[in-house]
Amino acid sequence: MHIDKRKVLVLNNSYEPINICSWKKAIIMIIKGNATSLEDTDIIINSPSTKLLLPSVLRLAHYVPVPKIRNKLNKSYVLLRDSFICQYCGKKLKESEITLDHIIPRSRGGRNNWQNLATACPECNSKKGDKLPEEAGFRLKKDPRRYQPFSMLYQLQFCVYLDERWKKYLFLD
Ligand SMILES: [Zn+2]
Repeated sequence: MHIDKRKVLVLNNSYEPINICSWKKAIIMIIKGNATSLEDTDIIINSPSTKLLLPSVLRLAHYVPVPKIRNKLNKSYVLLRDSFICQYCGKKLKESEITLDHIIPRSRGGRNNWQNLATACPECNSKKGDKLPEEAGFRLKKDPRRYQPFSMLYQLQFCVYLDERWKKYLFLD
């Protein structure tokens, strides 16, 4: 990946994810002492005064109050949460193959919210049809109800980039 495409996850002092920033902004924050790196990449950055590893996850030195963004339904968030993996058969999906399945079908009162949506491949989605997962012989790989919405949802909808190192800070499993 080209370095300019690298993004850095920013956690509040409380470890709550609050932003995604460019790697340049991340370096400035570290040099100024406004943040420390929790996870580094293996890319070395040479600045005139110092040499450091490009961070992947930053933690702010001080707590910053952040207004909570409401838990709005968003397809990107569902895909990120599910790591682009079909939640029924475990297949890693290409963008063109992705469908979203209502775990409790809408015809049976299932809501259109992120806790009732799972990433699915077209085969599993059509096999499941209007059934509950158990009725179709499926077991969800992960239960979406275990995941909490977080205040960076708004940024995430513009960003399908996901660094593996971010996962333990973004999701509760
Ligand atoms: Zn599948």
